[in-house]
Amino acid sequence: MRRSRLPITLLALTALVGSSLVATAPAGAEPTAPSGADHAHDHPHSANSVRIQMTGAAMLEKVVAAGFDIDHGLRRVPDGIEGEAVVTTEQVAALKAMGVQVLDDDEGFEWSEEADGGLRSLGARAVPSYSHEKTVRVVRADWFTTKGQGFLYVEARTTEGQQASPIVAMQLENDSGQGTPFGFARTMSRFVDSGQYMFHRNLFKLDARPSQIRVTSSTGGVTTGTVSNWLEDAPPPLTARPGYQSDFVDGYQHPQQLFSRAKEIARQYPDIAEIVYLPHQTNGYQRKAQATIGGTGQEAVVVSSAAWGHEGGNDITVEFVDRPGANLPLTVEVTGKAVRVLLAKDASGALASTAAQVAAALESQSQGLIDRAHPYRTNTGTGIVAPTAGPVALSDFLDEKRVGAPEGEVPRGPASIPVLRIGKHRDGRNPGVLIQAQDHAREWVPATTTLETAERLVRNYKTDQETKKIVQDTDIFLILSNNPDGANYSFYNYASQRKNLTNHCEDANADPARRNSWGVDLNRNYRVGSGHDGYAGASTTCTSGTYQGPEKLSEPESKNIVWLVEKYSNIKFMMSVHSNGGQLFWQPGAYIADGRITTPRPPLGDEAFYWQSAGRILSQVKAHRETVVTPENVGGSSDVLYSSAGNVREDMYHTYGIYSFGWEVGGSVYNPATGNWQGGSFQPPWVGDPALVSGHAETMEYANGIMEMFRIAAEWGKDKKKPTSELVPGGGRYRGPVDVRFETSEPATVYYTTDGSRPTLESPRYEATEFREPGQVFHVTETTTFRWFSVDTAGNIERNYDPTKNDRRDNYRTATVTIGG
Ligand SMILES: [Zn+2]
Repeated sequence: MRRSRLPITLLALTALVGSSLVATAPAGAEPTAPSGADHAHDHPHSANSVRIQMTGAAMLEKVVAAGFDIDHGLRRVPDGIEGEAVVTTEQVAALKAMGVQVLDDDEGFEWSEEADGGLRSLGARAVPSYSHEKTVRVVRADWFTTKGQGFLYVEARTTEGQQASPIVAMQLENDSGQGTPFGFARTMSRFVDSGQYMFHRNLFKLDARPSQIRVTSSTGGVTTGTVSNWLEDAPPPLTARPGYQSDFVDGYQHPQQLFSRAKEIARQYPDIAEIVYLPHQTNGYQRKAQATIGGTGQEAVVVSSAAWGHEGGNDITVEFVDRPGANLPLTVEVTGKAVRVLLAKDASGALASTAAQVAAALESQSQGLIDRAHPYRTNTGTGIVAPTAGPVALSDFLDEKRVGAPEGEVPRGPASIPVLRIGKHRDGRNPGVLIQAQDHAREWVPATTTLETAERLVRNYKTDQETKKIVQDTDIFLILSNNPDGANYSFYNYASQRKNLTNHCEDANADPARRNSWGVDLNRNYRVGSGHDGYAGASTTCTSGTYQGPEKLSEPESKNIVWLVEKYSNIKFMMSVHSNGGQLFWQPGAYIADGRITTPRPPLGDEAFYWQSAGRILSQVKAHRETVVTPENVGGSSDVLYSSAGNVREDMYHTYGIYSFGWEVGGSVYNPATGNWQGGSFQPPWVGDPALVSGHAETMEYANGIMEMFRIAAEWGKDKKKPTSELVPGGGRYRGPVDVRFETSEPATVYYTTDGSRPTLESPRYEATEFREPGQVFHVTETTTFRWFSVDTAGNIERNYDPTKNDRRDNYRTATVTIGG
């Protein structure tokens, strides 16, 4: 492949807000009120959800590495990251010692709403005139409304953003509609992540929609941009269609309810639905029976049964016995399930067995009843063990139901996860869409949202034309809960459970008081951008909320996803549904902190397709009750939030080319009564205030969004239309240097050459100016011939050009920009 030096200079010029390359129009808003799920907690310690603020990704990383349970409800604020932590009182103190700010539950960050008086912070400097070598670019300028209130969200970059001294100040002004003057100057917030300047950004309340904005930098750059709409003028949702049935789910559903309904649907609608069982069984809702005997000092012993609690472990008792006499050896007697440790005595008749000795004796002499015994946590067990008052019963603690847990027995033992597959043609001919809910156990709304979409599909199939089209043209795979063991634990034992029930902890963390911290974060267990390869945002600590597991794909729940997409290679779309945060993500989702090196960015065509899809999906969410997911919460998750190493989306997109979204449903909603954004929670009241935080309302609105994703997949599968593209302003003769760029008729990636060679898929790809910006601008200084073609996301190539064949009919596009003469 020839790739000689380009006879052009590539300059990053103004962002073309609203260009056809990035078919989007966004706006943003920032919630203020912290979430704060009303979790019920039980022992071993009572934990609460508190809102915290960290200075940035580095502090977040430290806090996570220290084992704190922090994820979701995280959002970027101008001076750091705000999040929700599930912590005990002691942990709050530890967080504060690390420099973390613990926010009052009722207050939170609030974006500035008013003009600040203009150039005060910039000093009285003259504003330079427009130059093509602009130092300021508008990344996005978005307008949206919700519940009668308008908002303007702006992101802008300066080429001097990284410089430390002086820090560049950026000022934003807007007009009040076409032809009106700029005014209302305010200072923008600088967003720095992992030591890297990202951009400046702000969200403002506004009453009138501006037409233009102007951004001025303290180092002299100024630029204007056109305001786009974000989620305005959404088409009516399917639920508004005459005769359309919806609102089927009437409360939170535990995994048994979810799976039994899935199987029932497959039985009721055999022509369009079936169950596919995932092959890797889970750990199961089961634990070893345990006890920590003799306090927590050097004389304490932690014992665990060989059998699962429900398979006999719970029947075991352990007793430490003091016998009369002197010079007695340490021995263990076993009668049935009663284990008696006869403690040693020395010559003077004093007790003489240490905790370490007792533990060793239990492991070797309990006739297989106890397979793990050790001193407490990091103790070496040098203390002399005291007799117990009597037999101590071991427990798996699973029967100790938390207050408010649903009725019924939870089935013990490994679970087989059923996938509800819906589609008229389930033979691979149609694009597959995988919806994976509840990787994180405490996130209950994703499960009900996914079940609601299943009900809508099967019950409207016969009567609603749009539903029929979806079912005929797609192959849908619904995993209503991908973490049933953890979900049961969340329903029945510990509401804030996030991870699965596999325990990889060594002795130091194996005592039952740590049981609410065991498990693997399934969304950190995948192979691409993994913590095992140095990516940030996953923990190696087994008790951390983001524990990545002992190796990549160590867990059956993540192995299952890989199995599914490999077996059904027609799966081209996936959505990993989480709560809560009001965010819609794609790639990149992870980076190496040093240098902030992300996983590869999707090509511009994919990026544009993601934005276009996001606009459609979120418009349908908004159509239900005006909930707006704001543009600052949409995009590559590591760009807008933080790095999450080993998440499922990176693996699905980079390994299999699956368009992979991550969704945080149940985010903030604007409350016109207070003028603030009210945050969501993991388990909001099912009904609650239907206009604000409500599991039911979130289920209904986000099901609208998933339904739109099905439509996107259906259209993608039918897409035979070839893209077209143009060089703008185009070939021809120019007196002097000229700026050109590509535009495409739909989301598509352009491959081009300027060295006379025919373009192929190996040729340079037309890239974004910078991330979250439209395509680059070429500053052409001497005569140049561009040769190119475009490929849309469905694989259609412009003019049917075949870049792989060197035939005579080279049907690519060409344009010559002639300079001078
Ligand atoms: Zn989650």
